[in-house]
Amino acid sequence: MTERLYWLDPYLQRFTATVIAFTEHNGQPAVILDRTAFYPTGGGQPHDRGALNGIPVVEVIEQDTDGAILHILARPLETREVEGHIDWERRFDHMQQHTGQHILSQAFLRITGAQTVSFHMGEEMITIDLDQIGFPPAVIEAVEGLANQVVLEDREVRTRFVEAEEVEGLGLRRPPKVEGRIRIVEVADFDRSACGGTHVRRTGEVGPIKIVKLERRGNETRVSFLCGWRALRDYWRKHRLLLESAGALSVGEAMLPEAVRALQEELKEARKALTALQELYLDLALPDLEQKVQPASFGEILVHLWPQLPSGLLPRLARRLSEGRPRLVVLASGGADGLLIVARGPGVPLDAREVLQRILQQLGREGGGGRPDYAQAPVPRVDLQALRRALGAAMG
Ligand SMILES: [Zn+2]
Repeated sequence: MTERLYWLDPYLQRFTATVIAFTEHNGQPAVILDRTAFYPTGGGQPHDRGALNGIPVVEVIEQDTDGAILHILARPLETREVEGHIDWERRFDHMQQHTGQHILSQAFLRITGAQTVSFHMGEEMITIDLDQIGFPPAVIEAVEGLANQVVLEDREVRTRFVEAEEVEGLGLRRPPKVEGRIRIVEVADFDRSACGGTHVRRTGEVGPIKIVKLERRGNETRVSFLCGWRALRDYWRKHRLLLESAGALSVGEAMLPEAVRALQEELKEARKALTALQELYLDLALPDLEQKVQPASFGEILVHLWPQLPSGLLPRLARRLSEGRPRLVVLASGGADGLLIVARGPGVPLDAREVLQRILQQLGREGGGGRPDYAQAPVPRVDLQALRRALGAAMG
């Protein structure tokens, strides 16, 4: 079994060790050392990264069978004596998050009685699952307040080993999952847990603890939170977003929700006015368009192009013009949101989708779709002359 230096001193960044086995893991070279400062994935905490004699350590896992720690390497290692160093930024982040989790779990237990049933540390977010649901915002604030108070009191974090028989009298937050000698992590006069993870020396090093999301999952609640630098980076990002949004609306931060509501109201009114104007336009435009209707073998045909028309108007025009008449209607508008529509009234022996595809083919474009009596395709920035020629060729 590998000697775990990260238990003796979680602040150890460099160490020397001897390889006791050269092996492989899923086709990648791996080594087992007599002692290591590399933490293997486990107990909710991800593995360390770093290097052995300059060769990157890409993954660290603990073998179930004998408790040996496997260092999976980017390249094979040639020598038996190694100098290892761990990626300290990554490790210290894990220590901040992990100690922060113990504090937050105890704060939830004290204020709400909710027990933490699982813990996960991701690349972005840290989560705990609680065995209760329904936490009002004031309760969450109280939990966060207590957790941050424990941080600011800069309490000592101690670790020690106890025998299994001693566990019962210790008042652990949760019964331990492992047997035999058990490692205890204690936040002075606040929390006592069985844990094999790496922790900071004093709670002050955890930095801010911030809950960012609550999600109900059946009878449990998933709490997403951030500690230390992660919490500060999240604050920076959100503060930037807030300033940008307030700047875009030319209001102070505090006025932002009200400004957004006012904008939504304005937009609703503007949409109503636009619809009314479009109806007015339809009534005015229809008589002129009726003048352009030509006789065809199956009844009538109407083709018309606009250099630009607000989107939304064209489909309504096409429906109004093809309704109840044996008429084929082909309408198009240019511009960035150019649209081509083929609509068919009753009694026209043509499939609107086929006519649409014939026109698109002439244009060298594709896409679009619809039903036998109505089909449309976006034709952004279409050249109107080319469209006119394509229509002529397709309808010819
Ligand atoms: Zn832990």
